[in-house]
Amino acid sequence: MRPFVNEPEFDVVIIGSGIAGALAAYRLATAKKKVLILEAGGVAPESLGRWTMVQNFITSSSKAPDSPFCGEDVLPVDSKIDSKKQPPLYRFVQPNAVNGDNYYFYADPPNPTNPNRFKSYYERLVGGSTWHWQGIYVRMLPNDFRMHELYGIGVNWPISYRDVERWYVDAEYEMGVAGSDEENDAYYERLFHAYRSKPYPMPALVRSYLDKQIAVAIDGVALSDFPKQRLKVNTVPHAINSREYKDRPACEGNTSCLPLCPIKARYEAIIHIEKALKAGAILRSQCVVTKLELDDNKKSVKRVVYRRWDGDEDWVSGRIVVLAANGIENPRILLYSGAGNSSDAVGRYLMDHPIKQSYALAPKPLFPFRGPQTTSDIAVFRDGPFRRDFAGFKTSLKNDGWSSVAATITAPRGASIPPQHPDTPNAIGTVLDFVENQKLFGANLKKTVHDHATEENGA
Ligand SMILES: Cc1cc2nc3c(=O)[nH]c(=O)nc-3n(C[C@H](O)[C@H](O)[C@H](O)COP(=O)(O)OP(=O)(O)OC[C@H]3O[C@@H](n4cnc5c(N)ncnc54)[C@H](O)[C@@H]3O)c2cc1C
Ligand code: SF4
Repeated sequence: MRPFVNEPEFDVVIIGSGIAGALAAYRLATAKKKVLILEAGGVAPESLGRWTMVQNFITSSSKAPDSPFCGEDVLPVDSKIDSKKQPPLYRFVQPNAVNGDNYYFYADPPNPTNPNRFKSYYERLVGGSTWHWQGIYVRMLPNDFRMHELYGIGVNWPISYRDVERWYVDAEYEMGVAGSDEENDAYYERLFHAYRSKPYPMPALVRSYLDKQIAVAIDGVALSDFPKQRLKVNTVPHAINSREYKDRPACEGNTSCLPLCPIKARYEAIIHIEKALKAGAILRSQCVVTKLELDDNKKSVKRVVYRRWDGDEDWVSGRIVVLAANGIENPRILLYSGAGNSSDAVGRYLMDHPIKQSYALAPKPLFPFRGPQTTSDIAVFRDGPFRRDFAGFKTSLKNDGWSSVAATITAPRGASIPPQHPDTPNAIGTVLDFVENQKLFGANLKKTVHDHATEENGA
């Protein structure tokens, strides 16, 4: 969008400092463009050392994705901001975060009386949501762009896999992605035509012992509903270093990637924000863009209006404005500005990626908690004629034992005593269950908690 002013202050104004904004800012700043990044959130405690964030996580009882980034250490970077006047320092934007009235909704189907709440969240922070992402790096498949043509669902994209493939490669080399070229050739390309024009920058992360045991058990098996497909356990490409890459170390395998890698082996957008700033970009944090002021034709942006955390309103202009404020906030800004909505599609069709998590105790030790949270998956169901009837899906094998379920059942202690189930007496695996239902104590209790919660069976 070109602003309707003769001398804009910046060549490019980028709204949002997540991975989209960070990579754009870096490329444009290195091309000697005058770049401004406007970011609604504050700066993570990284400036006080990563250990501060690790400590925040360790001492947090919730172990929620935002727990490393909370605390009093979120500092303003903009000298115009008086830190004494700051309102509460950090904003973690979650659907039900504030008094139940801070929800995002799925807009379709519109149902004002019973809207569906969007259940995911993002980090309102310099560096955005990759602060807490898991780093799994999965490309779209060629058929994902042609859903209507192939399966009569949705609409086709106006671009194809071929159009974006070189940009995938570019991003992979910037971030550092570890993956298996052999598996890609033998599996993704053969099955899904998802070719690669360049090898992965790094070899795949090492499969966990747990993955290998599951592969032995299920590789080659056909499910009755999908007789043509055979299960196959493959490694998952990750934006996590399998060896030293661009001055960051190789993964040490301690399974806390989500929400924070203590050693920066997992890629985070802050890496490219720092690079962009070194190349000359300017960052204004704690500046919430409220509106794009358009020219009379509503075709170009005159000014980007934003509000600082201290309440002051300000504006800025740029030859080009890049909206990189994520899938939730971009539509909000556009709708509020009355911009770019001739299709009436802005703000509609928001989709999360729904997940279903299953847990089980294995008959033999699998030794979880070795390696990133996921090192392998089953991707065979990502595409096929069944997509006429239901969505494609993939299955991650998790290395983190019960920890993901901990938030639901508050394992290992438990928040309440679960009803005892006659078929699966120890399925829940909380201490309350062991003590109250199974009457375990002493060495037996200790051993059972150990078996369930840490090293051996959890899968
Ligand atoms: C728990 C979790 C795990 C995930 N794991 C994975 C994974 O393994 N693999 C994967 O591919 N994806 C994963 N994702 C998704 C992925 O993290 C996001 O899709 C991605 O980071 C989005 O990048 P973005 O730059 O578009 O937006 P964001 O990173 O959200 O950045 C947008 C930025 O814009 C700022 N902003 C918002 N509104 C305004 C405004 N009005 N004015 C100024 N600034 C504004 C925000 O504060 C934010 O910093 C995960 C997400 C979650 C929640
Ligand atoms: S396993 Fe540990 S070292 Fe490896 S990426 Fe995850 S958090 Fe970082």
